[in-house]
Amino acid sequence: MINQTMLDLGRAPSPIRQLFNYGFERKKVVGEENVFDFSIGNPSIPAPEAIRERMRELIEQDPAALHGYSPASGLPATRAAVARNLRERFGIEADPRHIYMTTGAMAGVKSVICAVARPGEEVIVNAPYFPEYRMLIETAGCICVEVPTRADDFQLDIEALAQAVNPNTALVIVNSPNNPVGTVYTQDCIERLSDLLESREREYGHPIYLLSDEPYRELCYGDPVPFTANFYRDTIVCYSWAKSLSLPGERIGYVFTSSRMERADDVADAVAGAHRSLGYVCAPVMFQKVIETCVDLPANVEAYRSNRDLLTAGLDELGYRYVSPDGAFYLWVKALEEDAQAFSDRAKEHDLLLVASDSFGCSGWVRVSYCVSETSIRNSMKAWRALKESYGA
Ligand code: PLP
Repeated sequence: MINQTMLDLGRAPSPIRQLFNYGFERKKVVGEENVFDFSIGNPSIPAPEAIRERMRELIEQDPAALHGYSPASGLPATRAAVARNLRERFGIEADPRHIYMTTGAMAGVKSVICAVARPGEEVIVNAPYFPEYRMLIETAGCICVEVPTRADDFQLDIEALAQAVNPNTALVIVNSPNNPVGTVYTQDCIERLSDLLESREREYGHPIYLLSDEPYRELCYGDPVPFTANFYRDTIVCYSWAKSLSLPGERIGYVFTSSRMERADDVADAVAGAHRSLGYVCAPVMFQKVIETCVDLPANVEAYRSNRDLLTAGLDELGYRYVSPDGAFYLWVKALEEDAQAFSDRAKEHDLLLVASDSFGCSGWVRVSYCVSETSIRNSMKAWRALKESYGA
């Protein structure tokens, strides 16, 4: 028998992918330059030249070593380089033993869920949230509990979280800078979350883990993003170079189990066990070797800042409402009608591809991925105008 859940997941791609696939086909019909595809978070800027140089250097090395397996958790030199990078940047204790090299952030998130939450236990997500979280949680047999963020600024709603956390809560997921809103959670917000979780840990007598999913960590336009593991002891960080170094297709990231937590070795081993059980061992070795020497490369934030400014200036002129993003490369724009999907469908008629907010656990908005070319943003303005006019606005 086929597993129906898996069949359904395979048959119905996520709304983001559906729109992206539509755009792909539509471009063949009307021409690439006439489709304004703001659907997916695929970085528009190339990976740094230093990455390509390192690849050229590696390709000349012994192929048996280059293409061979690494230990399941990753090459010792790469894990050591990542741990050093975390120590130097955030002043945190980071033991290479607590770093697990992963095939991107998704594999890390899934493994952490499986490592610390048992079937039937609850995992809290803060809405709006990356839609794949629900799928990853539910296919682990856990319960996905959505807690809305604050309506005025999309910061964590600590009072609402206090209502939601209970003895069956195993894990809370935070993602800052946030996909889809672009919010960076303030230090005050993270400290209050940490106080809440610490007090509940004491009350319930068991840990409540915090998964900090940080693929956009370096893509922030203001002060650096507070490093969650510096505030809450039971933090597990999931990271990926997909966005910061424009390497989404290379599937390379890591899980860092905070070395400060009481049973850090056990949790790190459970993360390793979860990776093993899911078949995610031995992240791509060539890119582990790339990361070993390129881990300190900066992200090109300026390119996205310039895109953000261009897009928001255009939308300001047309009178659209949006949340001003502090980071990542997404703009959260208020739909011009209550039904966000209907608004997204209407935008599609103008070849403007915007993802409706419903799958992010929130109604009435659309997500605009501005990791596209400047030309595309400039040229899209006529479509944004026509869309607005179609509402008589
Ligand atoms: N987490 C968030 C919040 C994301 O936005 C994404 C990708 O868009 C991922 C995880 C997945 O990252 P990766 O491609 O490294 O698996």
